[in-house]
Amino acid sequence: MSLDSPHYRLWRNARLATLAPESPGLGVVEQGAVACEGERIVFAGAEADVPAEVSAAADIVDCGGRWITPGLVDCHTHLVYAGDRATEFEQRLAGASYEEIARTGGGIAATVRAVRAADDDTLYAESLPRLHAMMAEGVTTVEIKSGYGLDLDNERKQLRVARRLGVENPVNVVTTFLGAHAWPPEVAPAARGQHLLHIREDMLPAIAREGLADAFDAFCETIAFSDESVAQLFVAAKRLGLPVKLHADQLSNQRGAALAARFDALSADHLEFAEAEGVIAMARAGTVAVLLPGAFYFLRELKVPPVLMLRQAGVKLAVATDCNPGTSPMTSLLLAMNMAATFFRLTVPECIAGVTREAARALGKQDEVGTLEAGKRCDLAIWDIEQPADLVYRIGGNPLYRRVWNGQ
Ligand SMILES: [Zn+2]
Repeated sequence: MSLDSPHYRLWRNARLATLAPESPGLGVVEQGAVACEGERIVFAGAEADVPAEVSAAADIVDCGGRWITPGLVDCHTHLVYAGDRATEFEQRLAGASYEEIARTGGGIAATVRAVRAADDDTLYAESLPRLHAMMAEGVTTVEIKSGYGLDLDNERKQLRVARRLGVENPVNVVTTFLGAHAWPPEVAPAARGQHLLHIREDMLPAIAREGLADAFDAFCETIAFSDESVAQLFVAAKRLGLPVKLHADQLSNQRGAALAARFDALSADHLEFAEAEGVIAMARAGTVAVLLPGAFYFLRELKVPPVLMLRQAGVKLAVATDCNPGTSPMTSLLLAMNMAATFFRLTVPECIAGVTREAARALGKQDEVGTLEAGKRCDLAIWDIEQPADLVYRIGGNPLYRRVWNGQ
């Protein structure tokens, strides 16, 4: 064998959930194998079908009958932040109202202050354990939003730290500029029109030009941005070549689902209050529904997203942690799957597809990650489980055996 002949790695004696779109359910292969050359999968399927030239020139890993799924994709997180809101949580349990907490400087304003006060290294150091916790459960791709800086320099800082997390750790990081998350505390209600213009004319172009973001996101809600404001920002983002996403219909019906669909958004997220018209529009636009049961749980919400309607319309369903200090201080995508099944009645295949294939689609990365198919990046999660349902069924514990990122 000469030095420049291809070199392969082969994981054999495994059971696969390939999630390949043309195969039914999870795309299960009972006697399976996955092979990569460099960072790309060159084969995923029945072990008997592994090409001879691959097995002849491969480092071979015997998986001992364990399950292999695609590496998990957490497609909605706010994991770069400083400080936490544990004190506020404790105050609320002791009977304080949201208004009282807001009056004493709590809520999102507290996180904005902490993020603005932190330098890059501090922000990185505080965020890293959260990323590690996700990776320890098999996450190989994670989306990270800004939205706690709320001015150009601090939004840039959050996105810079997110990019650095991806450069310095064996994980794919996809960044989203959440420039319209909340009104900055220093902007008086009368000056909001001006601030909107500032996001559109200054912040968005700068962040797009600097290549800091892969998408633009907004929070469309009575306590945040109106549908007309979001529409203006979406026009600007798309003109700059940034795909859009939306925090939609979480706390009230703002026609967010329809708004997202109108701009061919990659995803509309939360959707508790989405209505039929919006759901049908999402199906037509191919906008993924990202369900966030962690926030639903933490806020003790009662209204569940219209899963039956989404399913019947053919909208793809993804599940994510929404990791953030205020409403979903959660780093476990496995727990998010259990919550999606328990609260929202997602099936096991929907939950697993929701953190792999459909989560990749929600990031526009469906050609790169999310399934075990030749050509995709070789990102694998190898599990000590008896059947895929174990990933959704268990609460606590971590059945991850090995995590493979980019073939390593
Ligand atoms: Zn969110």
